[in-house]
Amino acid sequence: MDNNQLDLEQIQNFKGKYPKQLWYLFMSEMWERFCFYGMRGMLTVFMVTQLLLSEEVANLRYGAIQAFVYAFTFIGGLFADKILGFRKSLFWGGLLMITGSFIIAAAPQKFFYIGTCFSIIGTGFFKPNISTMVGALYKDGDSRRDAGFGLFYSGINIGATLGGLLCVYVGKFHSWSLAFSLAGIVMIIGLITFLFTQRMMGPIGLSPLKNMEASKRRLIEYAVFIGSLLMIPLIKILVTNTRYTDLFMYIIGPLTLLYVFYEMRKYSKTEKQKLMAALIFIFFSVIFWAFFEQSGGSLSLFALNNLKDNLAGVTADPNVVNNTANSVFVIIFSPIIGLLWLWMSKKKIEPNGVIKFGIAFLFLAGAFYVFYTTRMFADASGKTSLNVFTIAYLVITFGELCLSPIGLSLMTKLSPKPMWGVMMGMWFLASAYGQYVAGILGAGMAVAKENATVQEKLISYTDGYKQLAIYAVIAGVVLLLISPLVKKLMHEIK
Ligand code: GLN
Repeated sequence: MDNNQLDLEQIQNFKGKYPKQLWYLFMSEMWERFCFYGMRGMLTVFMVTQLLLSEEVANLRYGAIQAFVYAFTFIGGLFADKILGFRKSLFWGGLLMITGSFIIAAAPQKFFYIGTCFSIIGTGFFKPNISTMVGALYKDGDSRRDAGFGLFYSGINIGATLGGLLCVYVGKFHSWSLAFSLAGIVMIIGLITFLFTQRMMGPIGLSPLKNMEASKRRLIEYAVFIGSLLMIPLIKILVTNTRYTDLFMYIIGPLTLLYVFYEMRKYSKTEKQKLMAALIFIFFSVIFWAFFEQSGGSLSLFALNNLKDNLAGVTADPNVVNNTANSVFVIIFSPIIGLLWLWMSKKKIEPNGVIKFGIAFLFLAGAFYVFYTTRMFADASGKTSLNVFTIAYLVITFGELCLSPIGLSLMTKLSPKPMWGVMMGMWFLASAYGQYVAGILGAGMAVAKENATVQEKLISYTDGYKQLAIYAVIAGVVLLLISPLVKKLMHEIK
């Protein structure tokens, strides 16, 4: 069957809960996240143990790499909208990610940064555009969309968990070359999965320039490919001089906002209002991720210093729990919550996206309150319960599930089609800011004294978590209070 034998109507008029194409995208994204989180998991450990950077420099570089990865999603989305279409963007992004992994694998110490830069650009082309394709499987107003994104989100986390565990394990205990190759091989599987299943996507994701003369179109496409390769040395400079990261972060956000406002002029008042609503969601997501991403920073130090190693009677390393509890809970609960939305929608009681976001912040607040209460379970040495800590992760996961897949879904509901890629890119750019702010918040919670006792660390971090709980409640309440206004901006969209 060739590309266009299936038309959009046939795809979108699927029976049952999920379109079958969702499973193909699920699989491709699962492998991509394996590669991404595998690489991400290796970054800091590799920089400290192999490149012999100090922990501080490694952390700063890690933060910069994370920020650039998500910042380039905007560019990936933009080029998909204007030139490549989602499919070619995915293909190009996947190819760059594979190349990046194998470049590092060839000589990890030598090519680490250059390979990482390939991955940054590659993820930029891949990540936002596969998410947008999920949205394209649904008709406007189809109430099954949020559940679809919920399922897709489980795939993301299956890949993330496996990649994070396996690559780091292979790297630490066998060989770094092998570990980076593993990320590359898995990404090849992801790309092949995509290539073999894309013909079931009908017209979804084809190039926006498909009616242009082929030779001219090819020329423009090659310009994008070559242009993105030329960016690599520049990103390398930015990543290795982290003071440029601040500058970059100050500039990229306002610039993208200006661009979105500029694009908005083409649209009707209703469409403009929907885009404004999307921007409000994006703004709140920055706050959410800034708190949530404490997991990679202050919470991992908290796990290292202040937690006992006993989970429900079994010995468990607190850092392993810190790194995996959330993904495991997402894998289990994301489809269940998706089914809950479907059920509620049938009963006509499904909350609107803005209410879901508000609830997400209340869960976030609850989770940080539980992180705070760990101090009440501490022994005299300042070590506290891993069980209570894990419960906090369960609570934060419910928050994430009310916000992250819903946000992806909302981007495709609220944006006009020619802006899907850009708005999805902005959604992820918000994550870049979230990560960035998370680092600043985490640093603020850290104990200034070099030789602080375990007890002092406990108090310092949990004080910080209490503050975050309070701010999260405020954000949630503000969202619920402004929900009538946001609903108006969203028009009939749920
Ligand atoms: N963990 C999710 C993913 O990898 C969400 C990432 C994000 O938006 N910050 O897709």
